Amino acid sequence: MWSILSTPLFLKLRFESNLGFSMNFLEHFEEVLAGLSEAGRYRSLTPFEGVGGRFNCGGRTVLNFSSNDYLNLANDERLKKAGTDAIERFGTGATASRLMSGDLALHEELESALAKLVRQDSALVFASGYQMNAGIVSGLFDETWTIFSDALNHASIVDGCRLSRAKVVVYPHNDVAALEEALLRAEGYKAIVTESVFSMDGDIAPLDGIAALARAHGAMLLVDEAHAIGIYGTGGGVCEAIGIRPDITLGTLGKSLGSAGGFAACAAMLRDVMINRVRPMIFSTGLAPACAGAALAAVRIVEETPELGPALRERSRALRSALRGLALEVDAGDSPIVPVIVGEDRAAVALSQALLEQGIVAKAVRPPTVPEGTSRLRISLTLAHREEDLRRLVKSLEAALVAGA
Ligand code: PMP
Repeated sequence: MWSILSTPLFLKLRFESNLGFSMNFLEHFEEVLAGLSEAGRYRSLTPFEGVGGRFNCGGRTVLNFSSNDYLNLANDERLKKAGTDAIERFGTGATASRLMSGDLALHEELESALAKLVRQDSALVFASGYQMNAGIVSGLFDETWTIFSDALNHASIVDGCRLSRAKVVVYPHNDVAALEEALLRAEGYKAIVTESVFSMDGDIAPLDGIAALARAHGAMLLVDEAHAIGIYGTGGGVCEAIGIRPDITLGTLGKSLGSAGGFAACAAMLRDVMINRVRPMIFSTGLAPACAGAALAAVRIVEETPELGPALRERSRALRSALRGLALEVDAGDSPIVPVIVGEDRAAVALSQALLEQGIVAKAVRPPTVPEGTSRLRISLTLAHREEDLRRLVKSLEAALVAGA
């Protein structure tokens, strides 16, 4: 019987590998890595020890300004207890896809709480937000659709668009007029996908205008509130704050909610469509019990303590104003994501490195995560930061900039 294992190429590679010769494909990947290094785009992992705003890194304490644990819940005793209780009740894994035997009562309890939080009728949880976005965008929209996607949408949405068989129109970032023009030209079913708070810029989409266009053109509206849940409105995100109900609200359990996983909230009928069409829902193990339990505790905390989001936003306004005092171009928003645009890849890495030497983690973000020429430090604020931490960040940044890092 024919098998890839018996093809001449495979036999040749295996033979050479057994003899210790270098194989072409290894050389190829070495070249890939060398190319990334040369371009200043090589990425590597940095293990940290600890949770919250402070880390142990190489034997010293550093301040962490690269975490998305906005409400400082990942280290909260209530979440930890809920997570361990869930393990006691349901075990450490969901053990199967939810369509097999992995559908836990806890999933449904969490879904009801999430739906209520974002003012939707129902919700569906997934093992990660990335999986969910890629799965929903690719699973719902076939060749009869055109997807209109903001140019700065997250990779998970971009990948969903690539996997779908729909026509994809990428409109300029937050440009309502360009979106309208594109909608006017399109035929068939239409879906608009945007983030509310953008993950790398921290700015907010003009959702009033976008929702009005969706209504006028009969387009479906999907809003990714990953960086807004728990922070805007009474915790439901920007749409809740401004009184808009998208067709699907997308969210993650891994940022403000201090856990891991994703959720999509919508009308019950659309939830049904997702259960039947979204491949990560069908083919991936259900959300782990500990993650579901911790996220449910986080939703309850967000509901019971509506002052958390406003406190974080106040902190963001103060930091933005201090950074403007250093003559940095930082806009006047209030999301916890504060980008310091540097431009050149190596310059962004050097600035991040100079801050690390002063005990501050603020990671550089480079293409393809952000557009060419806009490499930056992505500073993210959390409620773990104290006022003196913000002062230290600003002073360290000033020193690094003066030193020409
Ligand atoms: N959407 C946006 C806007 C994000 O920033 C992220 C995470 N960076 C995701 C989705 C994916 O979420 P998760 O981390 O749960 O996979």
